[in-house]
Amino acid sequence: MNHTLPSHASIALENVVKQHGDTLAVNTVSLEIRPGEFFSLLGPSGSGKTTILRLIAGLDQPDEGRIVIQGHVMQDVAPQHRPVNIVFQQYALFPHMTVFKNVAFGLEMQKVSPQDITQRVAETLDLVQLSGKHMRVPSELSGGEQQRVALARALVNRPSVLLLDEPLGALDQQLRQEMQRELKTLQEQLGITFFYVTHHQEEALTMSDRIAVMHNGQLLQVGSPQELYQSPATPFVAEFVGRSNRLDGTVVSIQSTHATLETKHVPPIHIPKPEEPTIHHSMTLILRPEWIHLTKNDHESGFDNHLPACIRNVQYLGNEFHYRLEVTPDIFWTATVPILGHQHAPFQTGEQVFIDWKTHDSVVLSTS
Ligand code: ADP
Ligand code: MG
Repeated sequence: MNHTLPSHASIALENVVKQHGDTLAVNTVSLEIRPGEFFSLLGPSGSGKTTILRLIAGLDQPDEGRIVIQGHVMQDVAPQHRPVNIVFQQYALFPHMTVFKNVAFGLEMQKVSPQDITQRVAETLDLVQLSGKHMRVPSELSGGEQQRVALARALVNRPSVLLLDEPLGALDQQLRQEMQRELKTLQEQLGITFFYVTHHQEEALTMSDRIAVMHNGQLLQVGSPQELYQSPATPFVAEFVGRSNRLDGTVVSIQSTHATLETKHVPPIHIPKPEEPTIHHSMTLILRPEWIHLTKNDHESGFDNHLPACIRNVQYLGNEFHYRLEVTPDIFWTATVPILGHQHAPFQTGEQVFIDWKTHDSVVLSTS
């Protein structure tokens, strides 16, 4: 049997299923990751991300479907023979070994010559900016430095694919952002395919070429950060990737340019025309906070929708104001307004305002 398949993908999952006891951890997932891509798997805790990563690495076997890496079916390939390396959230460094020894360990096991080991470890430590610290032990390093050692230990094997499982999860916010930039730069320099697992939507948005969103073992959508943000495929994706306001209702009529959504709580709303005639269907309106125009004017021109609301909270973030809006006693929305120069908040807590938006700026999805 020929196990080499023509493929443009670096990693391919084909209808992969994995059950853990009663839990369907991975439910028929198909996915293609391109060579050199920074690809993120994004989903809440328990959605099946680590399970997928372990299947790719060969630490677990799929119940159904198959995994192909660089054109080779991985069915019978042991973890150590797969062209991938993993970096976990827990650094799992050897506490009594120096940084140098920690990074060299894998190469020593592979019986690489001492001369080559010295050179490759030095190059790799240089790459992760730890050159001066090779004689320290892990307890003499900060969290960020320890994570760099873990990264160096994976990179020293020169894998063509690096699997990273929430590698920055243990770091504080500022260090995490710093490491995000470094990881991205490193990935671009080395041209390695990164398969990056995270539950952190902002992290995925800022670093990735493409993102796959997972929920309950299922893949909901794969796309560029911009595609996910502007054209979410499901209400879950809309709410998990970026902030969004939501309104559930029923389509009551379809006109030439738009449709009309009727809801229990607010007057009928114009929504983009659904692709299929979906009269009487339950649909969800998604409106990003920055797609809203706030006004005190009852007759603002240029907008298709106009809802009264009361400002319940104002947050100043330096570059924008966040307004928490009470649309009804059960529905609270958020609007963001950019701050240009020195400017006072145009609206105050307790004020009555109107939420205006253009129909084509909103997204409408089947309710799930
Ligand atoms: P994530 O990494 O997205 O948090 P996981 O892949 O770790 O999710 O887990 C997916 C689901 O499978 C969860 O419901 C989890 O409890 C379950 N699970 C994961 N590993 C095991 C295991 N070894 N035994 C039993 N259930 C597991
Ligand atoms: Mg996990």
